[in-house]
Amino acid sequence: MAGYKHSVSLDIEKCKGCTNCLKPCPTEAIRIRNGHAYIKSMRCVDCGKCISVCPYGAKKAVYDKLSAMDSFKLKIALPAPSLYGQFDNLDDVDYVLQGLLDIGFDDVFEVSRAAELVSDYTRLYMKQPGIKLPVISSACPAVVRLISLRFPFLCENVLPILPPVEIAARLAKTRAKKKHPELKDEDICCCFISPCPAKVSYVSNDMFNGEKSAIDIVVSMSDVYFALIDVMKNDKAPGVSTQSGMIGVSWAATGGEASAVFNDKYLAADGIENVNRVLEQIDNSDFPDLEFVELNACNGGCVGGAMTVANPYIAKARLQSLKRYMPVSQSWKFGSRDSIPDDAKMAEPLQGIPYSPLSGDRNEAIRMMAEIQQIHEKLPDWDCGSCGSPTCMCFAEDIVRGDADREDCVVLVREKLHRLIGEQLKNEKQKDNKDEG
Ligand code: SF4
Ligand code: SF4
Repeated sequence: MAGYKHSVSLDIEKCKGCTNCLKPCPTEAIRIRNGHAYIKSMRCVDCGKCISVCPYGAKKAVYDKLSAMDSFKLKIALPAPSLYGQFDNLDDVDYVLQGLLDIGFDDVFEVSRAAELVSDYTRLYMKQPGIKLPVISSACPAVVRLISLRFPFLCENVLPILPPVEIAARLAKTRAKKKHPELKDEDICCCFISPCPAKVSYVSNDMFNGEKSAIDIVVSMSDVYFALIDVMKNDKAPGVSTQSGMIGVSWAATGGEASAVFNDKYLAADGIENVNRVLEQIDNSDFPDLEFVELNACNGGCVGGAMTVANPYIAKARLQSLKRYMPVSQSWKFGSRDSIPDDAKMAEPLQGIPYSPLSGDRNEAIRMMAEIQQIHEKLPDWDCGSCGSPTCMCFAEDIVRGDADREDCVVLVREKLHRLIGEQLKNEKQKDNKDEG
């Protein structure tokens, strides 16, 4: 997609061309050419899978530094609930919130608080007649982009409600402007503390149909974690209290969002390979009874994001014990709302994004497609990846697009070598027989 700003990039100096990242990429966006990986920008969904599998640290997330907010007059932290799972022995979220104030933020608005609102809006949306089922969560930007690129027929199923982080930023700015009427919009910075690169892309590309995000900068959870552990050592009593409960904090790990919909016909899947599989099955109508689907690109949900510090399973267990002392919710009460506010809805329904076509000319595209099939039939179909393309079908397409050479396939080259050696031996034998005769 022209102009799309990615938040996953490659450091070519560190890349050894080992192919570890080639096959795990859910969108077949990676190729190995001339001994190095490269990412086909059009296909990448910034899921961060390649960051987690690269043994050489050659893939990295792109995000803002904390110093990016220095020029703003009012700095508001938007902590994702997965931040709370990063700390060992944390028994009260308030210590983290106080820590954020101590490292230089002027205000904090918890994303978990907005998540409780989104859970409430989702329940109201699910009651509407005529909606396309199953409804698929819109919270993970990597999943939303994957749907736009690979499953355009499922765009209609995506929950048309903004993700919690966006709602948190909008509410935080409204509150700040009420408290500080002397400040202009450009004086206020909403800084999202993100567990993953996909959420960086969400902000930098104004995802969800070009609506301008209210988030100004996105920093890495690991950077904030290391700043926080210094100030949290002081053990000072917190002067701030959380405004969210179990429901909001549960969104940090897989299943938390789905269980808050209070509908038994749900499925929650995590890990980009599983997400891909579930979307294929929904696309094939394999789950006719499902009503709600929560999908998270990272293993374990947001706690497994590439910009976190703790092991996702440990973080999830920590959140479980933390939630024991929390109220169910602090942001809604049963029956307190009967409609979804307009500013929480996406401006337009999600649209499919066409993959790069083979050719702008229809006849030429059909000819190229036939050539891809012909080449593919001659390939071994082992999908071994040693050619630098993730599958034999991708390799055939890359050849036709002029992005690969038949000689890159080691199996074809080996067969050619065997044939040549066989012919050579046959010729030598014939020559020997002639000489003897
Ligand atoms: S995993 Fe990918 S990016 Fe990392 S060194 Fe191997 S080929 Fe390069
Ligand atoms: S971020 Fe995800 S989609 Fe993009 S290249 Fe890496 S694995 Fe593929």
